[in-house]
Amino acid sequence: MTDVPQPDLMEKIVNLCKRRGFVFQSAEIYGGFRSTYDYGPLGVNMLRNVKQAWWRSMVQLREEVVGLDAAILTPPAIWEASGHLANFTDPLVDCRNCHSRWRADHLDGPCPNCGSIDFTEARPFNLMFKTHAGPVEDEGAVAYLRPETAQGMFVDFANVLQATRKRPPFGIAQVGKSFRNEITPGNFVFRTREFEQMEMEYFVPPDDSAKWHEYWLQERYRWYVELGIPESKLRLRAHGPDELSHYSTATSDVEFLFPWGWDELEGIANRTDFDLRHHAEASGVRLDYFDQATGERYVPHVIEPAAGATRSMMAFLLAAYDEDEVGGEARTVLHLHPDLAPYQVAVLPLSKKDVLEPLAREVLAMLQPHFTCDYDVTQSIGRRYRRFDEIGTPWCVTVDFDSLEDRSLTVRDRDSTEQVRVPIDGLIEELRGRAATPARLPRR
Ligand code: ATP
Repeated sequence: MTDVPQPDLMEKIVNLCKRRGFVFQSAEIYGGFRSTYDYGPLGVNMLRNVKQAWWRSMVQLREEVVGLDAAILTPPAIWEASGHLANFTDPLVDCRNCHSRWRADHLDGPCPNCGSIDFTEARPFNLMFKTHAGPVEDEGAVAYLRPETAQGMFVDFANVLQATRKRPPFGIAQVGKSFRNEITPGNFVFRTREFEQMEMEYFVPPDDSAKWHEYWLQERYRWYVELGIPESKLRLRAHGPDELSHYSTATSDVEFLFPWGWDELEGIANRTDFDLRHHAEASGVRLDYFDQATGERYVPHVIEPAAGATRSMMAFLLAAYDEDEVGGEARTVLHLHPDLAPYQVAVLPLSKKDVLEPLAREVLAMLQPHFTCDYDVTQSIGRRYRRFDEIGTPWCVTVDFDSLEDRSLTVRDRDSTEQVRVPIDGLIEELRGRAATPARLPRR
């Protein structure tokens, strides 16, 4: 396996994403709308898979975590109490020469636009998108697009507690869109103004918060490793005191080695009782927990693993990309984990001859309820294998002329390119077995 040079890698991923239908520039026919992206037929499959893998690990496999889907459109009261109206800011500077604007903490050196070093003093710029709900555009109608999903879990805390009778430690998880008016979006879908988050608020007795913080650091790191990111490209990094958000006493990030260096995939914060306490004060509604066993009433502390779905999809793509040689021919391959691949199985009749089609379609219909499948008859079989390697399809099943006689077909593995003959009757079981124990992905 070759090591693709990192600056090239970014360009290759962006090109592949467009060419094969993972990610398109939004509003491209109108010249594009900066920093917004559309997820194409393959991208939407993969992004759903990322979110599904997160939901499975955070909600489905845990009895103490429940889900929520809260509104995106939110009243100012929430953001007043959470501190976002006052504090959810980035330091903004203007270049005095070309009047471009930059995020001061991301600038190290002259203006990237004109090279000047003459900047204004940094001033706080609030990242929330403000709009008006209803037909009157006055102050009373102000609403915000949520800049994080987390506040939904705090605002609905009492409702969830009442409805589920959970007791700490327990969690509320949410996946959905968030919006931030980023000063300098960029690096493809790494930083955009509209993006998707996967967040969980884990409510614990105050004295146990350090223990649970450590627990979630390890759990979340392991999630990325299990889905195929090599450990050489992952690290945990604790925030220094000057980096902490206004609500946090301790935060560590899971970082990935992006082509431009280490950068954040996920933040795991100890939010203490900050949010529940402030919402209780502001709303007048009690947001605490009464422990009947001890007779004690307390405001739980919160550990929050906050990940980006769109950002981690990009990391999974970068980590999976490879160029190698098969049978003396160069190929591009995405070594995606089968749970993340846009298609898990491609059904390929060996030739365009009509006699193969009924059986190939029968196989497709048999697999579709169990796996995400594509079907392709165009071009030579070798070309088709390459096309499916390039989009990370773990298995191609090929129906050939022998299949008509023996009701067997060939299963080809993307990573090893090995082919084995499998009876059609045993195909689902064979693929299920492979999906359950994916081969170790090639490591760099
Ligand atoms: P940064 O300091 O890079 O602006 P942050 O530390 O404020 O980000 P969090 O508030 O911790 O980010 O958000 C949790 C996760 O949501 C991030 O780790 C990231 O994966 C994702 N995320 C945040 N902002 C964006 C964005 N503008 N575009 C894409 N994903 C984002």
